[in-house]
Amino acid sequence: MNTATDTARVLVIGIDGVRLDLLPALDTPHLDGIARAGFLAPVQVDDETPTMSGPCWTTIVTGVGVAKHGVWANRFDGNRLDLFPDFTTRLAAECGRRTFAVGGWAPLFLARQGGPLFVAPTRLGYVAPREDTPEAWEEVDERVTADAEHLLGLDEELHAGFVYLGAVDETAHFLGCGEEYRRSIEAADRRLGRLLAAVRDRPGHAAEQWTIIVVTDHGHRDEGGHGGRSELERTAWIAASGPGLPPGAVPPALHHTDVAAHVYTALGIPPDPHWTLDGAAFHSPHRRHVGGNPPERRKLTADH
Ligand SMILES: [Zn+2]
Repeated sequence: MNTATDTARVLVIGIDGVRLDLLPALDTPHLDGIARAGFLAPVQVDDETPTMSGPCWTTIVTGVGVAKHGVWANRFDGNRLDLFPDFTTRLAAECGRRTFAVGGWAPLFLARQGGPLFVAPTRLGYVAPREDTPEAWEEVDERVTADAEHLLGLDEELHAGFVYLGAVDETAHFLGCGEEYRRSIEAADRRLGRLLAAVRDRPGHAAEQWTIIVVTDHGHRDEGGHGGRSELERTAWIAASGPGLPPGAVPPALHHTDVAAHVYTALGIPPDPHWTLDGAAFHSPHRRHVGGNPPERRKLTADH
């Protein structure tokens, strides 16, 4: 089986709560590099999706909206992840691929608060914060990055992974979107740089073609906080580079649901219609016709 798709690999790095409007003024060379090699573009959280981490991350990694996956808040009880699994679980269970997921927010990785979101990747890593503070979360993200570097450095097949970095969001909740928040985004970018280096240093890298996707789930109000419908809270973004993503070509009408759809497509796995994904690969010719919310509807903003 030496077809081209056997060499395809995807790494998704999720950085929680990064405001798009602040990025141009920050020192984020690794994110800038991905944007130059591919694109970095805004995503509006859909009208029916609360601007909270639980529903937004679930949409990002399942490729379906809240009406299907059923995660409406930061508790995951009542979810329908058995029908709409995250991509690391589906790839491992149904597609014969090896996957991993690593991070420090409990309900994504553990049977806590109705989780886990990542039910059964091939490898799973969870790093518990020693307390709920920005400093403790920076430590968590350091260890999460080290764990992901370790997994990427193993001489074994690895087709897709998800790395969750949570310190940026935690900092905004505690301290607002000021100086500490900006420094935390820059720290996340340095961790992104380490992950990119770990990909390049893989033993089998010469025979692999990697797609890198960096995504945030929602924004923040200036004073810190989200969950409402303001533009600052609803504006998220996706950056990606890799095969089939021409430099500077921004996908039209980008949705959070497109991330999982792109992961499958990049791995040479056309999404099965029975999966009823709401998104489509970033440059899919079908992307204007797939389910989810048409762009006209998404432009309507409502007060919470
Ligand atoms: Zn979040």
